[in-house]
Amino acid sequence: MTKNNKPLMRVENLCKYFKIKEGQILKAVDDASFDIYKGETVGLVGESGCGKSTTGRCLVKLEQPTSGEVYFEDKEIYKHKYHEEFISQHPEENIPKINPDQAKLDYTKDVQMIFQNPYSSLNPRMTVKDIVGEGIRLHNKKIKNKELEKTIENLLNDVGLSKDHISRFPHEFSGGQRQRIGIARALSVDPKFIVCDEPISALDVSVQAQVINMLKKIQRERDLTYLFIAHDLSVVKYISDKVIVMYLGNIVEKAKSEDLYKNPMHPYTQALLSSIPVANPKIAKSRKRIVLEGELSSPINPKDCCRFSDRCKHVMPICKEVKPPLLAYEEGHEVACHLY
Ligand code: SF4
Repeated sequence: MTKNNKPLMRVENLCKYFKIKEGQILKAVDDASFDIYKGETVGLVGESGCGKSTTGRCLVKLEQPTSGEVYFEDKEIYKHKYHEEFISQHPEENIPKINPDQAKLDYTKDVQMIFQNPYSSLNPRMTVKDIVGEGIRLHNKKIKNKELEKTIENLLNDVGLSKDHISRFPHEFSGGQRQRIGIARALSVDPKFIVCDEPISALDVSVQAQVINMLKKIQRERDLTYLFIAHDLSVVKYISDKVIVMYLGNIVEKAKSEDLYKNPMHPYTQALLSSIPVANPKIAKSRKRIVLEGELSSPINPKDCCRFSDRCKHVMPICKEVKPPLLAYEEGHEVACHLY
């Protein structure tokens, strides 16, 4: 991993709100800030609906953030600062448009996404050649058919498929093979940064490890940087250098992977980690699983307090009144909790 002083991707106070109906705003991502350095894999974890996929979609421009700033290689990708009161009063007007100059950035080539569902993310009417070649043609209009085919064959080889697969359609492949096609498509434009949105969760357990190992190998070979979104913490532990934990749209803990797994601080992270199965029966016997009680709060018009307070066994009066800020507990380890 090459670590420069400046992050490859810098996200500051990112918010993505959805208007449900008059006066109701779903705060899917609320004030998320993080840096990702070149060559790193950053795991983004949390339960379904915590805002992790929406965060990833904002980074690849599949969603337009409501406010916040995103920088890639120090270039401004989004910069929209709106007052929260204005957002709540005029949500429909607060859809910032991309600055045309910013749109000129070759961002779509540098930042790609691997989607969760390999069944719905590939067009069933397109052959592998068309799916993988689409992006290459878009960025290299003069490419000759022979060269295009050779490039696609090499990409298929890199992801463990054969050149004989080039003329086939998605329905002719298994789930694992389809995800390999999705990975080849992401790699086709030679990106620098890939958002991997739960890339193995729809696959059979037997092929999950193969796909993860392949992603690691490709990362080493191409010096890639990943944002790896997942709810399976054992996978995140295996692949990530750093981990970000989200709960109901907020980042509640950020740390280097080994620090987070050794010393989880936020009660939500502790509960998540306690549910990871341990192979060693002796250790497994001595561990106690933390079962979360209480209902998951609604992300619609959330109160300005700790969003985990309805389920936290350490809850204190302040937790119901003041939202805990994300503060550094030690170098590289930040937590948002009034216990610290
Ligand atoms: Fe629990 Fe309070 Fe910490 Fe929230 S701030 S996680 S309610 S102790």
